[in-house]
Amino acid sequence: EEMDVDTIWMDGEFVPWEEAQTHVLTHSLHYGTAVFEGVRCYDTEQGPAIFRWEEHLDRLYQSAAPLGHDISHDREELTEATLELIRRQDLESCYIRPLVYYGYNSLGVSPRDCPTETTIACWPWGTYLGEDALEQGVDVMVSSWRKHHSSQIPTNIKATGPYINSMLAGEEARSNGYVEAIVLNKEGDVAEGPGENIFMVNDGEIFTPGLSESILDGITRQTVIELAEELGYTVHDEASISRGQLYTADELFFTGTAAEVTPIKTVDDTVIGDGSRGPVTEELQSRFFEVIERRTDDHDEWFTYV
Ligand code: PMP
Repeated sequence: EEMDVDTIWMDGEFVPWEEAQTHVLTHSLHYGTAVFEGVRCYDTEQGPAIFRWEEHLDRLYQSAAPLGHDISHDREELTEATLELIRRQDLESCYIRPLVYYGYNSLGVSPRDCPTETTIACWPWGTYLGEDALEQGVDVMVSSWRKHHSSQIPTNIKATGPYINSMLAGEEARSNGYVEAIVLNKEGDVAEGPGENIFMVNDGEIFTPGLSESILDGITRQTVIELAEELGYTVHDEASISRGQLYTADELFFTGTAAEVTPIKTVDDTVIGDGSRGPVTEELQSRFFEVIERRTDDHDEWFTYV
């Protein structure tokens, strides 16, 4: 299936889709040494706007550093390239995928002689976990795969190789008839979804695993924590959540750029709450969509208008 993309930005050039290619001996293809971002541009009441672009750029540069990538494009250049890609393709809302990888020079594990190459692509992308997911919630299973510990592979950066863990957990869930997985960390406590952070609601308070639980510090996670606190909720954002607590939670939901705010309906076939989107999830979700669709004046600082 060909994506609805006609232009891809590659190190300063706007390249036609079919010419956006790299060699099979690309270092990052062999060793998973690329870093990337996933960002959404929303069709707001004030036109297309990229949500929290600056934070995604921060994380891209942070992800690059420990892998030794020296991104030879500054923030302004990457921003201009992205805005131009959206304008040229007349996109109103889209998903944005910056990718920074080691190209070809040699194929030793050391990337020292390999060039760091940067690409950006944008394409239309709807809801991630299915049409009804945002309203009805999703059925998930606890994966038999554990999330690698942050001392084994950094979990606070977005590198490509570690997505093997996400892919295995997600495919295991889908093979078993579930929509998505929940992945436990090495200690057996709740970490996150394959491409989502997870939140739990109990007695009107909100809990989410802390960064020391080997999770990605999702930008949607940060957003939902901030919005929840503004609404007056107590948020425990360094919680340790046991597997058992999943099944007895009042409410559970996922957050992520792709998943946005998605309620979890069942875990391992155990119904969570009364099996429908809970009241706290619903309030946070509608506040989230109010903000991203710009039906409110506040948090305009989170938007980069195209
Ligand atoms: N955890 C993992 C493993 C992810 O891949 C993602 C998606 N980037 C998230 C959490 C959510 O992060 P964000 O809200 O920044 O998209």
